[in-house]
Amino acid sequence: MGLLRARAGFAAGEARPDLPEKTADPHDIHAAIILFGSPGSGKGTQAKLLGQCLAGPHISTGDMLREHISAGDEIGKEAQRLTKAGKLVPDEMVNALVKQRLAAADCEPGVILDGYPRTVNQAKVLLGLMESDGFKPSVLHLVVDYEKIVARLSGRRQCPVCGTLYSLTTSPPKVAGICDRDGAALVTREDDREEVIRERLHEYDVQTVPILNFFKESGVPLFEVNAGDATPDQVKRRVWERLMEAGVLPATAGSR
Ligand code: ADP
Repeated sequence: MGLLRARAGFAAGEARPDLPEKTADPHDIHAAIILFGSPGSGKGTQAKLLGQCLAGPHISTGDMLREHISAGDEIGKEAQRLTKAGKLVPDEMVNALVKQRLAAADCEPGVILDGYPRTVNQAKVLLGLMESDGFKPSVLHLVVDYEKIVARLSGRRQCPVCGTLYSLTTSPPKVAGICDRDGAALVTREDDREEVIRERLHEYDVQTVPILNFFKESGVPLFEVNAGDATPDQVKRRVWERLMEAGVLPATAGSR
């Protein structure tokens, strides 16, 4: 971030023979794409695909916490205790992790934030960081009709013996209720039960709507992209076309 800070310190119009023209550098956008998507929206897949559009990293606070858990350090121990209990880790802990991560040199071309912010307090801290580190934040919300998510996930069946997944609509077993591979009776996984899916979608709304409202009120550009009726590659294309038109991603992004 040294370069950004150096730039921020110069007065408008001042001659800068040592730096390239601002508009000539596609990395100069310093986009921070803040990704939201409900369970079943394909957010994880899109985060990875979008990572190909941006030279900067995909930063997932869930992944960062899992790394600390594997390392068994102090942060990891605390994170494990809380995540096991189905709780969020404290704002101060994730805020500090994200702050440190955003200061790394590989973030200079831009970042994709996934799983953060999860509270309005985290969102406030993030906007402060964006300003001090010279990032331009945008929110990308992958929107899928909840009825479609319920239909898709509740139509999944799994073989309890070999783990093969079937979809009653797109890839059903040859004989209803029976695994093609080993003849075992297929089951519905606990988290694919309709009530469980609806509860998770409801929790997502309760957690996310206030954060989206906060960003809207703060004037952060918000892009809603329909992610429910297309393949992951088509959704990716939709996303980067929208972000490119809006000048959030450089025009070269899709070729990566
Ligand atoms: P999920 O499996 O819910 O998609 P993630 O992989 O993003 O979750 O994160 C795993 C767990 O790590 C979360 O359930 C939560 O306990 C914790 N966590 C991740 N990101 C945050 C955050 N921004 N704030 C607080 N806790 C978080």
